[in-house]
Amino acid sequence: MRKLAISLLSVFAALILSSLPLLSQTKVKDLKSHYMQDYAWMRLAQIVPKVTDRVILPIGTVESHGACAIGTDNYIPQNFAELIWDKCNALVAPAVNHGTTGASVARFPGSITIRPEIMEEYLYDVMKDLIRSGFKNILIINGHGGNTDPLKKAMTRLHLETSAHLLTVDWWKIGFDAAAQVYGGKPQQSGHGDLEEAALVLSMRPDLVDKEMYEKLGKDNVGRAGVEDGFFMVPAWATSRLPEKGFGYMDFDVKKAKEYTQKKADTITSVFLEAVQRWEMNEEWKKGK
Ligand SMILES: [Zn+2]
Repeated sequence: MRKLAISLLSVFAALILSSLPLLSQTKVKDLKSHYMQDYAWMRLAQIVPKVTDRVILPIGTVESHGACAIGTDNYIPQNFAELIWDKCNALVAPAVNHGTTGASVARFPGSITIRPEIMEEYLYDVMKDLIRSGFKNILIINGHGGNTDPLKKAMTRLHLETSAHLLTVDWWKIGFDAAAQVYGGKPQQSGHGDLEEAALVLSMRPDLVDKEMYEKLGKDNVGRAGVEDGFFMVPAWATSRLPEKGFGYMDFDVKKAKEYTQKKADTITSVFLEAVQRWEMNEEWKKGK
């Protein structure tokens, strides 16, 4: 009788096990969460690299942005991560929310700046431990121009030391066609606190673009923070910059903002997926396959 019970139990266990998908066939979307920090370390060790060896690291800064929230550069990359993790089959790492804010806006209320040499080391340490935890393919979504150089230096060092694959995107330098398609005008690089940056914020949190303050800033000079190349000033006389007069003024149309944001997100997804595919192909070739 006892023997029968044991064998029934083992049949039952086998049935349960066979009905569970293998971890290697599971996708990030099948897990309880796509946030790396939601797991106990033992669980994370089961997930990385079996379910995925890809991670998205959003990085930004806190700085004045005209009528947009001072957290603009943090909200944007985090929102992109939300829009793309599923298609990328990637976990999302806790964001780096303090960055290298430039001197021209560093004295405005709320701005926080990390010196570039500290930022490089800080990013290096964060990414080094993502790699140590088993991630091989890292996508860094950058929300702020001052971070770009320290980030590239840290990425280069880590790749040479660990052979990990790293890709970063400065969202304002990619997919220029998206603005032209949604808002008209010729494709161009986005400015600071302008229509395109405001659109990315509006698409998720319309309350973070302050309409009253925008009107106060003055529709006609809100963007003239920059001067011609060859001049340099600190501080800037305004905290937003439009690429060109007549284009780039804020638009409070949330539907258009969502459309624009999705186009940018799709560009990031396709570049990352292609990069991973090519990196993995290279790895196979290195093994002589
Ligand atoms: Zn910004």
